[in-house]
Amino acid sequence: MARVAIVTGGTRGIGEAISLALKDAGMTVAANYGGDDAKAKAFTERTGIAAYKWNVGDHQACLDGVKQVEADLGPVDVVVNNAGITRDGTLMKMTYEAWDEVIRVNLGGCFNMAKATFAGMRSRGFGRVVNIGSINGQAGQYGQVNYAAAKSGIHGFTKALAQEGAKFGITVNAIAPGYIDTDMVAAVPADVLEKIVAKIPAGRLGQASEIARGVVFLTGDDAGFVNGSTLSINGGQHMY
Ligand code: NDP
Repeated sequence: MARVAIVTGGTRGIGEAISLALKDAGMTVAANYGGDDAKAKAFTERTGIAAYKWNVGDHQACLDGVKQVEADLGPVDVVVNNAGITRDGTLMKMTYEAWDEVIRVNLGGCFNMAKATFAGMRSRGFGRVVNIGSINGQAGQYGQVNYAAAKSGIHGFTKALAQEGAKFGITVNAIAPGYIDTDMVAAVPADVLEKIVAKIPAGRLGQASEIARGVVFLTGDDAGFVNGSTLSINGGQHMY
């Protein structure tokens, strides 16, 4: 039986590449998204992968969403916590709402999705969780105390949960992408982006497919001894 995977934020950007790569690896994939119905519909038409709308920052919505996926596709073996947002600003300008929303979606989403799927994985003796962190959670970034804190939290969450799942055949790992060519990075002003690219030894932005390749590795049945690790995929920009 094909493994069933949920990719949060799986309908565009890095998530789309992950959804496609897991499908190519033989999994049955459910791609979650947060609000852009038009992009989700186009994604499903393009890929044949079912899209499910819920807010990963909403605990009950995650429980309900996973229940629906399991009713449609079967028990969930693989969760990729990829959904993420930015609400940048220096501390002096950042509102509490911008802080709270980023923590709730980026970090809270990992907790919510783990709560919705971990018991099932434990009872079946197999699970793969991959959390998408960030270079900015490892190194910090000016104007991103909310995002850097959430992403840094993801790395701690990963190491703690990895210890809880290990004896049940569950692995929990993280990927810390560097700057990847997606809508999120397109929102960075051109002059700022130019300076960022100048600091990447590879001399370019990464591609979403290069992150997806790491996810395929970490979610494989044969990756059971890789646990609690963070895979940095960043063109050599930050060695952690
Ligand atoms: P995009 O902005 O291109 O896509 C984000 C995806 O997440 C969309 O599918 C979006 O859905 C979904 N999403 C956003 N908020 C929610 C929510 N509350 N509930 C459910 N889904 C939600 O992002 P990227 O592809 O660039 O980034 C993907 C991940 O990689 C993020 O976690 C990001 O922080 C991380 N990352 C990205 C880097 C980059 O350079 N791009 C670098 C390092 C880390 P919808 O389409 O409905 O809005």
